[in-house]
Amino acid sequence: MEKKRILTGDRPTGRLHLGHYVGSLANRVRLQDSYECYFIIADLHTLTTKAEKDSIEAICENARQMVADYLACGIDPSKAVIYLQSAVHEVYEMNLFFEMLITVPRLQRLPSLKDMAKSANLAEMPFGLLGYPVLQAADILMPRAHLVPVGKDNEAHVELTREIARRFNNLYGEVFPIPDVMVGDVPTLVGTDGDAKMSKSLGNAILLSDDERTVAKKVKGMYTDPNRIRADIPGRVEGNPVFIYHDAFNRDVEEVADLKRRYREGAVGDVEVKRKLTDAINEFLNPIRERRAMIEAKSGYVDEVLFDGTVRMREVARQTLVDMKKAMGITGIWNRISRKAEQARKRSERGGKA
Ligand code: ATP
Ligand code: MG
Repeated sequence: MEKKRILTGDRPTGRLHLGHYVGSLANRVRLQDSYECYFIIADLHTLTTKAEKDSIEAICENARQMVADYLACGIDPSKAVIYLQSAVHEVYEMNLFFEMLITVPRLQRLPSLKDMAKSANLAEMPFGLLGYPVLQAADILMPRAHLVPVGKDNEAHVELTREIARRFNNLYGEVFPIPDVMVGDVPTLVGTDGDAKMSKSLGNAILLSDDERTVAKKVKGMYTDPNRIRADIPGRVEGNPVFIYHDAFNRDVEEVADLKRRYREGAVGDVEVKRKLTDAINEFLNPIRERRAMIEAKSGYVDEVLFDGTVRMREVARQTLVDMKKAMGITGIWNRISRKAEQARKRSERGGKA
């Protein structure tokens, strides 16, 4: 039986962090054997909030680092197609067709876009940022994906993709599957500063490529229960970033249960809780670091992976766009014009000879 397809990816705005892992990467690694996988380095999406020349300049190196992160986490490029969005030109065209199938108020209601504009210090919503989820729909529907593993903040965008796909199919015939969303084990991982979301752009992230000492330093500075000014004061475990991270990354379940109990009783210091968290995160990251070192040792390897994936994606994209334009009747317009023009040209040639 033909495998179902996955599309998901990330904006090359920096290196990947623990939030990406629990939100989406873990599912990608888990599902790469049972699905045909397409992972997009969504560089056009970075332009929605960062269109300046120096931001564009930074994309190339960020993209390389991101591919290295994927491979270090265990994504296998012989199974998954990893590609660069801006180099697959069909997406620009698809985006335009999808823009016709959604209203401005529908897009304006998405809280995620307002948040993005705010964190990028944009006083007013750029047209392109409003269209962010439409471009995302083009990405998802390009390989006709059935499943989209993303973090919680992207759930509403996938819902919009479903609406666009339904609308397209209703108007023009069944071209696209209606993709399902799959949110990760931790839907949104909090930042080290206690902010609701760990994010590349907020400086509250532990990177998958951080070394042991950096992890130790970041964990040491982590936000915990602010009311607990001494180790013998009972503390709050629920919603406490340190314990959220313990739950997500510490494989020693008994140790976590013991720490929680003692924290609630006021019988453990933050220092011990954080030291054990540092060890747990480092243990989690060690195999990722080892694979990363191997990947970095092979000069040009990530470029090769991204190049090959993009070439493969171009073929998939070409086929989808052909099918889509045929279903819409767009191809037919030009075909009729050119046929008629050809006939007219032949007639006048014959006329000229007579
Ligand atoms: P930026 O700050 O540039 O927006 P980001 O850290 O939000 O970067 P994206 O590239 O926007 O990362 O997101 C890539 C994927 O990772 C999306 O599926 C998103 O939902 C998921 N993701 C990002 N941050 C988290 C997080 N803290 N917890 C869970 N999932 C996350
Ligand atoms: Mg984001």
